[in-house]
Amino acid sequence: MQTDIKSMTTEELKDLMRSLGEKEFRAKQIYEWMHKKLASDYEEMTNISAALKEKLKNTCTYTKLQMLRMQESAEDGTRKYLFALPDGNTVETVFMRYKHGNSVCISSQVGCRMGCKFCASTLDGLERCLLPSEMLEQIYEVTRHTGERVSNIVVMGTGEPLDNYDNLVRFLRMISDENGLNISQRNITVSTCGLVPKMLELAKEKLQITLALSLHATTDEKRKEIMPIANSYSISQLMDACKVYFEETGRRITFEYALIAGVNDSIEQAAQLAELARPLHCHINLIPVNPVKERGYAESSKAAIVAFKNKLEKKQITVTIRREMGRDIDGACGQLRRRYVCEKK
Ligand code: SAH
Repeated sequence: MQTDIKSMTTEELKDLMRSLGEKEFRAKQIYEWMHKKLASDYEEMTNISAALKEKLKNTCTYTKLQMLRMQESAEDGTRKYLFALPDGNTVETVFMRYKHGNSVCISSQVGCRMGCKFCASTLDGLERCLLPSEMLEQIYEVTRHTGERVSNIVVMGTGEPLDNYDNLVRFLRMISDENGLNISQRNITVSTCGLVPKMLELAKEKLQITLALSLHATTDEKRKEIMPIANSYSISQLMDACKVYFEETGRRITFEYALIAGVNDSIEQAAQLAELARPLHCHINLIPVNPVKERGYAESSKAAIVAFKNKLEKKQITVTIRREMGRDIDGACGQLRRRYVCEKK
């Protein structure tokens, strides 16, 4: 198998240079071409000799994504991209403009095996994990296409990032590397459905990213109804893991809570949620559930959402309601890819 050069750290590139009989300093030059100057191919690397380029072509693959579709929202400029991976699989990436900067939501896997009942991305199960280069390239390709700097990243697209742990951590270190795009770890959020052992492992990496936990329910019974992962880890185990994460990293966890009409949006559930969030000083992000046609869950009413939020605030919990962006371009997450795959069939 060929080496995926865009997933290699500078140290690994140095070893590669040595093995190719080249000088070590070439490693940093090549790293910067790939990760800072976002070169589309070896040809752009003007200070690299033709002989070295030839050796690289013969020993390494140069991962690039191909844009298949792009939809731009007329309402807020949000863009959804559908990219083809080198093996023909597809992933969705979203570009959003906020007052505080541009944000990109990336996918971490092709499909997902977590099986959350309200989610479109898991309907066909997991196809495969993404390589670090394939996560990086989603951001690089959006940067090339928009010509604008990306300052925030959320790993909230298709896939469970902690189910692709090693590649995720490598990606996080590379995207925040000063020889690459140098995106501040504090501006990166990784969202998980709650793989407890991996959350504990992540705590030890000493990264300054924000960890978001997709909680979506306040009791184990209710959580099991909508998230199969709740059969493996209880809410009490999750809260313990959050506590460890906070203690090890000093970073507050965000709870994500998708409001589903008649399922998890009562005032009593808001009160329970406040009790879970308080000891951990968590921020809560409420998401009106995006209806997925295969699923049959409905969004909570505006009144229920406001009442839920008010209850949390009364209990001194900081809460935001996720602003809905790009609603005019393909409803729920994963829908652009889903439609494309269905058309192909
Ligand atoms: N697997 C990770 C990250 C991907 S999903 C996780 O579970 O956190 C990103 C967020 O969107 C999660 O909180 C997920 O539960 C939520 N989500 C998935 N489908 C949704 C839908 N139809 N409406 C609203 N939120 C949804």
